[in-house]
Amino acid sequence: MKCPKCGSKEIVAEKSEYKCAQCGKKVLTLGAECAKAAVSVRFTFRNMFGRSFILLAERSGDTYRLTVDCPQKMPEEYVRKMTAGEWDKLMDKLFCKAFLHEWENGPQPLAENSWDITVNFELDGKNDVLTRCGNSDFPPYWKEFMSAVRPLFKEAGLKF
Ligand SMILES: [Zn+2]
Repeated sequence: MKCPKCGSKEIVAEKSEYKCAQCGKKVLTLGAECAKAAVSVRFTFRNMFGRSFILLAERSGDTYRLTVDCPQKMPEEYVRKMTAGEWDKLMDKLFCKAFLHEWENGPQPLAENSWDITVNFELDGKNDVLTRCGNSDFPPYWKEFMSAVRPLFKEAGLKF
């Protein structure tokens, strides 16, 4: 495991929590809980040519749906159903491998070469939302995040 803030691999266990020895960030281990509570994940990446690459994964009851879009390149959105297994695997990658809930926010995104992520959670009737954004100074777990979403963009014929 590495620190979601500075990327350091010096994570030390302190009583019941984990802490980065370099920057002092407390590292929570709520990945599995977040994965279970997530009802939608929206990711937008804006490249240097002003194109927006959008991915939306959402669930409603037992229905799971994937939408991929790039308005500047695609005549219409790519939409398909996801299986429960696919959904679980994606959420596991986002929260247990990429630790999305642990990311720090970067500066306000620019119009080009920037990204943002919004996750909606629902657990026991309570709603919560997580937003993360940044520019090309990607967070330490960016690679893990991209390896989860890149195949879905590729499936829709998009590469960036
Ligand atoms: Zn750190």
